[in-house]
Amino acid sequence: MIIWNAFNSLPTWHRKMVLILSIMVMMLAAWPSEQAVATRVNDDEPLADASPLDDGEAQPQALAQKSAKPSYVTKQVKVRAGDNMQVIFQRLGLSASDLYLIAQLEATNPLRTLQPGQELTFKLTKGGDLQSLYYPHSLEQALKVSRKAEGFIAKPVKLELDTREQVAKGEIRSSFWGAAAEAGMTEDQIMDLAAIFGWDIDFAQDLQPGDSFRVVYQDKYQDDERVASGDILAAEFINQGAIYRAVLNEDGNYYTPEGKAMRKSFLRAPVNFKYISSNFNPRRLHPVTGKVRPHNGIDYVAPVGTPIMAAGGGSVVAAGYNQFNGNYVFIKHAGNFVTKYLHLSKRTVNKGQRVKQGQTIGLLGGTGRVTGPHLHYEFVVGGVHKNPRTLNLPQAETLSGRELANFRAQAMPQLAKLDSNELQLAQHKQDGGNI
Ligand SMILES: [Zn+2]
Repeated sequence: MIIWNAFNSLPTWHRKMVLILSIMVMMLAAWPSEQAVATRVNDDEPLADASPLDDGEAQPQALAQKSAKPSYVTKQVKVRAGDNMQVIFQRLGLSASDLYLIAQLEATNPLRTLQPGQELTFKLTKGGDLQSLYYPHSLEQALKVSRKAEGFIAKPVKLELDTREQVAKGEIRSSFWGAAAEAGMTEDQIMDLAAIFGWDIDFAQDLQPGDSFRVVYQDKYQDDERVASGDILAAEFINQGAIYRAVLNEDGNYYTPEGKAMRKSFLRAPVNFKYISSNFNPRRLHPVTGKVRPHNGIDYVAPVGTPIMAAGGGSVVAAGYNQFNGNYVFIKHAGNFVTKYLHLSKRTVNKGQRVKQGQTIGLLGGTGRVTGPHLHYEFVVGGVHKNPRTLNLPQAETLSGRELANFRAQAMPQLAKLDSNELQLAQHKQDGGNI
């Protein structure tokens, strides 16, 4: 890459010299490395129908004059560590002046950042000249370079991935993470699911054995191989008997089946559940007294350095240190709400600063009057401490009119999939009843 870039920045006459020299060097060097390239020669059928190098416009002609069809050789090259286009062209014995011309095309920029393991497909004439080049550089984007009468042209190609719908379900026995992974969900999807319900459920503290979930989601496939996880389309979470349901709307946000936004003014927990060692805290011991007792806040035990998020948007009204609170941050929100975060190892915001919901305001620590590291979190309404988990928080925004009608029409089949899954589950239980 460095060589190629340096090459491009040389003055023109200099480039020509380098070019001529390169061609001479390549003539000598190209042949011995030929066996390192996987080669597929198709004499009679140079282009299989599914070949990425097929030129749609070339086919009618090929059919018309079958005997005059030119033969091509297809070579597939796997990019190795340290490879760049110049090295690969040399290995294939291709013309350095062709590479020079290709490099002039802006659309060929992806060729400058080859990654080991990626594959390039070259179509060569029998004489060994480059006819076309195909490079899928990401899951959904490829580049095709073809030789035309007037020179090379390069165009991006959008790769179509198959989208398949899947249903996952699980019941929590020891941890949400474990149950979701067992249900076949990826790490990203588990985090997405927790995020969808993160305004209603405190995933760090509220989960109980017997809680359950169902998810309709998409996976992306290429040639029957799963290559990426897609969106969660609909989900249900039953937490301590309360049923929460969410469906993805075309605006990219999740809503309840009635059209109320899942996103609300406050997150249930200012700590991402993935940092909490145990999802279950049946007896909450106060970190100082060691007794189970009600107190003005909720304690989250997680490793020192765990990021602490602003539960809602607002402005920092206090950020400082004292011997009881340690490092602390207080945030004032619209509607006379204040949230307080204590014992931080580090504050990352200052007094007077505006913060967004979910923004990191500090790191969990064990400063102040504590026996062990934890976050002490308080939720204050009009000067009175409240339990944020049982409090009725400000109403979420609601879809209305045409938006609501559209959403409902789209949500109905998704909800039906959640329900039909219930049927399958019941059926399954019945079948397995004697085992
Ligand atoms: Zn506390």
